[in-house]
Amino acid sequence: MYTYDKMDLQPYIPGLSPAEPGPLSRFIPPLEEGVISSWLPRHTPAGSWLLDPFGFSPQLVLEAARAGYRVLVTVNNPITRFLLEMAATPLSESDFKAALADLSVAKKGEERLATHLQSLYLTNCEKCGQEIHAESFLWRKGEDEPYARIYTCPHCEDSGEHAAAQEDIKRARRIASTDNLHRSRAFERVIQLEDEDRVYAEEAIEYYLPRPLYLLTTIINRLDSLNLTPERRRALNALILVACDAGNTLWDHPSERPRPKQLNVPAQFRERNLWMQLERGVSLWTGTASSVVCEAWPQKIPESGGICIYEGRLKDLAREAKKEIPIAAVIGSLPRPNQAFWTLSALWAGWLWGREAVEPYKPALRRRRYDWAWNATALNAAFTHLFELLPSGTQFFGLLSEAEPSFLTSALTAASTAGFDLQSMALRTEHDPIQLLWRRAEHLKREANAADLDTVRTAAHSHLMERAEPASYLHMHAAELLALTESHALKQKDQEFDEALRSTQSLIQSALAGDARFVHYSTGESVDTGLWGSNDLNRYSDSLSDRVEVAIVTFLQKNPNSIYLEIEHDLYPRFPGLLTPSKAMMYSVLLSYAERDGATWKLRAEDVASARRNELNTITAMLEVIGTRLNYSTRRQDKNFLWEQNNVVDYAFYILASALVGRAIAETPYRPEQTIIVIPGGRAGLAAYKAQRDPALAERLKNYQLVKYRLLRNLVEVPVLTRETFEEQIASDPLEKSNSQMMMF
Ligand SMILES: [Zn+2]
Repeated sequence: MYTYDKMDLQPYIPGLSPAEPGPLSRFIPPLEEGVISSWLPRHTPAGSWLLDPFGFSPQLVLEAARAGYRVLVTVNNPITRFLLEMAATPLSESDFKAALADLSVAKKGEERLATHLQSLYLTNCEKCGQEIHAESFLWRKGEDEPYARIYTCPHCEDSGEHAAAQEDIKRARRIASTDNLHRSRAFERVIQLEDEDRVYAEEAIEYYLPRPLYLLTTIINRLDSLNLTPERRRALNALILVACDAGNTLWDHPSERPRPKQLNVPAQFRERNLWMQLERGVSLWTGTASSVVCEAWPQKIPESGGICIYEGRLKDLAREAKKEIPIAAVIGSLPRPNQAFWTLSALWAGWLWGREAVEPYKPALRRRRYDWAWNATALNAAFTHLFELLPSGTQFFGLLSEAEPSFLTSALTAASTAGFDLQSMALRTEHDPIQLLWRRAEHLKREANAADLDTVRTAAHSHLMERAEPASYLHMHAAELLALTESHALKQKDQEFDEALRSTQSLIQSALAGDARFVHYSTGESVDTGLWGSNDLNRYSDSLSDRVEVAIVTFLQKNPNSIYLEIEHDLYPRFPGLLTPSKAMMYSVLLSYAERDGATWKLRAEDVASARRNELNTITAMLEVIGTRLNYSTRRQDKNFLWEQNNVVDYAFYILASALVGRAIAETPYRPEQTIIVIPGGRAGLAAYKAQRDPALAERLKNYQLVKYRLLRNLVEVPVLTRETFEEQIASDPLEKSNSQMMMF
């Protein structure tokens, strides 16, 4: 079996998806909770200084601080900084409610501000005719009136989507007629009239319709005259921020692109009722967790843990902090380009805190195109500053969420060429953050080796051998990247990043495309879709999903009543690095063998080993009974049970208690048309899941008859059984489809 020479790939650290994704979650990296607090104590004692050079994930920093570490974090995005401060020192529900009440009672002419702003969303119920507030209006890109509205009527409970009425259109037009005034107010808060970047601010504001812009500017213009306490002002800012995000046109309807990266107006989008969003913000922000010390550099934080925010560039911090702060480890969620969030952050910072707050972050308005070469260059600069700042041997635990092949190439190339050695990469699926571990090396400049096609091919092939089943393109890409990283061949000395990324990409893909051992299972032409398999697998090696099945059942046999996370903790070290089993795979096994009681899992009574052994004996006995009735001579031969006539095998039954159908096919010496694989009914879904994951297995399985235990039990009871009816019966027992598409990987 292939192992990476120097790299010792670590197990994936399991965590829990947060119950509440929190404010602005569509722009924040989706990380699991519990990962960083589980990594840290194994590598550095509590109280040590950590550095997060990116400040990209407030949750990550917060969790490390809560675990008792002192986290120095550089943040240059004022919105991310605000999110971090809000999370570190949460406000109570009453602060938010009071802030919203203060805003509501402010006057707009004779009206209360709340009444005035809510009236922007008035509509008439289609069913009872009462005047109510719409939850959303729906628009098509480029049109100047909404085509539909969504509401829930409090009077008659009519709800859902209805075509926009004449009144709705008139109202939208009326608000649009004063739009110029509000639009110019909105950008004057962000940028000076004579500023050369003015045009960029104007463009960014284009992603707001007149109504939300009117509401936001009306509220923002009131902020200073409200006379709020600092807590209430912070609470109100937080609520307004939710409305700022809810108020732009980046909400596609129906939602298919929930995490926008680019400023693009979808073909159909949703304009939300922003007053409702302000109210919704109260529960979104209300934190129950205790607060954490959070100071601005160079204020001190206690040894018991806390957050120290460095608002500025890593380059400057490297100069300032080098002597003063002994950094024990680096943590961070690796930033990926997000033009939408970065541009909007500059806009929102101006609306909430005025032009001065935007100034240091203004380039975000200007920079419009972020590609992977840009990303690699920026990451490389960060890693280079880190190299300066850190003693050699310092570890860097990085999380790369929304993993896509190019992002991974970019990050590994950037780190490697800045003197960081990759120690480990753990990858579960493309939907989970990749866990990366680097160590600062002795030397910044190292000799770059030429990229070698054979090395990359061998790595890809070895990965497939190790899995003994097909892999996603991302897994293949990662395996090949690891080989290139190890041989320091990601970027040649005279190459720019865009050239280096391109040649790596081309090398990785031609390694797959130009080798007859690799099989591409895909409906499309493109290399990076579908699954990659190998046509020279050892048919006797159990596939990854077979091994996972055995491991989970063995664990539950010894540890009944375990929670899911405990099962992951046991399992992941057995399948480290790129072999980490997906949740879908684990649940397929659990649902086949176990039952859940509250949060804990235990094997079903019939799947406890002793019960299964008894049942295997029963099934064998039944086969003997049925075979004898059909005038066969029967006998056991190794793992098969045979029905013979004149010493010729008519049927060979391979009885399984598991879903290891691949092994059964490999081991049975009989021809497919003679062979019947007998499995427990509870295993059928799991066998179907495996066939879905592995097109080669599905192809082999097609030739075999699978029969469930239950059918044999029924056949024993049939009073008159002939060889013909037996044929018919087993042919009518198809393997069912796996329960859901979502379970695919
Ligand atoms: Zn109604």
